[in-house]
Amino acid sequence: MSLIARALTDEQIEYRDRAASFVEEVVEPRAEEIEASDEFPRDVMEAAGDRGLLGILLPEEYGGEGADFVSYCAAIEEIASASGAVAESIQGHTFAALPIAAHGTTAQKKAYLEAMARGESIGSMLLTEPDAGSSPSELSTTATLDDGHYRITGEKSFGTNAGVADVHLVVARKRPAPESGHGVSVFLVPGPDNAAGFGFDRAEFMGMRGHVTGDSTFSDVEIPESALLGEIGQGFRIAMGTIDRARTGLGAIGTGIATAAFEDAVAYAGDRTQGGQAVGEYQAVQVLIAEMDTKLDAARHLVYQSAFAIADDEADTRLSSKAKYAASEVAEYVTRNAIQVHGGSGYRKDKPLERYHRDAKILSIIGGTTEIQKTTIAKQALDL
Ligand SMILES: Cc1cc2nc3c(=O)[nH]c(=O)nc-3n(C[C@H](O)[C@H](O)[C@H](O)COP(=O)(O)OP(=O)(O)OC[C@H]3O[C@@H](n4cnc5c(N)ncnc54)[C@H](O)[C@@H]3O)c2cc1C
Repeated sequence: MSLIARALTDEQIEYRDRAASFVEEVVEPRAEEIEASDEFPRDVMEAAGDRGLLGILLPEEYGGEGADFVSYCAAIEEIASASGAVAESIQGHTFAALPIAAHGTTAQKKAYLEAMARGESIGSMLLTEPDAGSSPSELSTTATLDDGHYRITGEKSFGTNAGVADVHLVVARKRPAPESGHGVSVFLVPGPDNAAGFGFDRAEFMGMRGHVTGDSTFSDVEIPESALLGEIGQGFRIAMGTIDRARTGLGAIGTGIATAAFEDAVAYAGDRTQGGQAVGEYQAVQVLIAEMDTKLDAARHLVYQSAFAIADDEADTRLSSKAKYAASEVAEYVTRNAIQVHGGSGYRKDKPLERYHRDAKILSIIGGTTEIQKTTIAKQALDL
């Protein structure tokens, strides 16, 4: 029995198995259609909500499951093995709901969380801007307090579920600036259909088709004063308060995609014969399989080491950066070499291998690039 299998509790296994049934019954039959249509799979999100998979980390009193972070990773890893796009949409949604659960007023939690846990309301976190990506402290979106309302003005780039979400967590600078400092704050903004001045331009991406993101513009978007989440000036703390969990969750998505690619590669290497023997009997192919297997196992252990630390309230930024860095690089490595093991057929669009590879690429960019993860790890190792 593997170390991870030994460590999982019955409850964590139950979430993994629940996600596996969701994959078999809902995601797998739809994965290629989601890829082809590139349409946001709202029905799949609702089906995830019906099965409790959108509220794993949310409090039970607001319709969530109140389960731990290992349960979330076990579930999201399973889902990613069938569809990176569905997994990433759930991840973006979850990491919009968590700040509301942690910092919302009772009224905000009641208004948002139950519907988010059911998948009837979708969430999106909008931190990144055209001039503020890896350095999010350079945000320029403003929220001007004016006669009991805030007026949001600025531009946001990307943001998983942007535009299709029902609640956007927009990180902006309050104007007039607070006397206590220049910190940013978080504001709850409805979707473009319900917020005059909110424009959304969806962009096309290399992978994760069906997952929606693009460019959001806010021109004097009016929201009530009660739409402030948490306190003025605490926005960066609120947005970054989930970063260890977000990075570890992205790592689990990486190991999920890589597992699907690896299993396909192993099956194909046994089935495909050339020169009178299975291609898996050639040492060159065995080297690929051995490297994929070993790197994937190592990355998964880092992901679960970080997940267990988070579940034990011992979140460790160096560890979550290592987990995300390792798993996103491994996802790229394994999906690329799974295509290699398949030869020309791995490059075909009617097999999922090239989809896995395109989906995997984003993981070394979102939630902090691999370069940022390495900087974080090295700074802590060097005590800088
Ligand atoms: C599909 C998708 C989904 C996304 N989802 C969200 C979301 O839900 N919410 C959200 O707010 N954002 C989201 N993003 C934005 C994402 O987090 C950013 O793209 C990412 O943080 C990198 O920022 P950037 O694109 O501006 O790149 P830049 O910061 O401009 O980086 C360019 C290059 O410079 C390197 N670099 C920059 N600064 C440093 C540094 N200090 N040290 C070393 N190297 C550095 C980077 O590693 C990279 O190689 C998403 C992006 C995509 C593509």
